[in-house]
Amino acid sequence: MAVSSYIGRFAPSPTGPLHKGSLLAALASFLDARANGGQWLLRIEDIDPPREPAGAADLILQQLDEHGLHWDGPVLYQSSRLPAYKDALQQLSEVGLLYTCYCSRSRLRTLGGCYDGACRSNKLHSHISDKPYAIRLHLPEKSIIAFNDLIQGPLAFDLHKTGDFILWRRDHLPAYQLACSLDDGFQRVTRVIRGSDLLDSTPRQLHLLSCLGLAAPQYAHIPVLKNAQGQKLSKQNHAPRLDSSNVQTNLLDCLKLLGLSPSTELNTASIQQILAWAIEHWRFSHIRPSAC
Ligand SMILES: [Zn+2]
Repeated sequence: MAVSSYIGRFAPSPTGPLHKGSLLAALASFLDARANGGQWLLRIEDIDPPREPAGAADLILQQLDEHGLHWDGPVLYQSSRLPAYKDALQQLSEVGLLYTCYCSRSRLRTLGGCYDGACRSNKLHSHISDKPYAIRLHLPEKSIIAFNDLIQGPLAFDLHKTGDFILWRRDHLPAYQLACSLDDGFQRVTRVIRGSDLLDSTPRQLHLLSCLGLAAPQYAHIPVLKNAQGQKLSKQNHAPRLDSSNVQTNLLDCLKLLGLSPSTELNTASIQQILAWAIEHWRFSHIRPSAC
């Protein structure tokens, strides 16, 4: 059999333990990688220390392990990648794509989520002010990004709806878009499977990958799990931590949410048997774009 060039990844932020919504994303990317004979990498996106409780990253590793979701190779910690993020900034700066933004949070709030480019004339390396600043990417005039999502179908976004976006935060931390795009490129990821709450990041990441000269992966956005109030299940909304005494049930619940129909015989099966069955039956066509 030919060696698959497929590389998938799961990339949680260690802001707390995994909940059922994050297990769903991990399981979907794991099953797709394994069904394609590919590698499945684990990347811990630990670039926001104020939001990361001590021990959370280790707990995520333990929870994945408990659910039989074993990753390939060493874990990549984004906290070890700061020099690479700075190099990428340098690369973009040399082609004149970056500028400093001194806008206050209160000014940004008045813009309703679409940055107006007010700071575009600022040079990157000539700070005349001690005021905190972010670094933004100057978007081209034409900025429609179209791509074919493997679950959601063909999509097109206009980057100007959100405007020039931040690559380096005013609190001196790399922004999610920069770290995520660069590391998908660095790890040679060929397919990203994640929750549809990240769908609006995808066009920005595709644009950034192109600016950095990196190959773009394929994307598949699964529906996100919601709580009884209709909010996305998330750490911010206090989603309960996965119950590690109920691993089989957690997996079977997630498989049903991914459109699979495990037989009742699997209720008493081992974790390995459940995952083997799921890899065999995994299909994107089973997932309804807004099913969860
Ligand atoms: Zn500004």
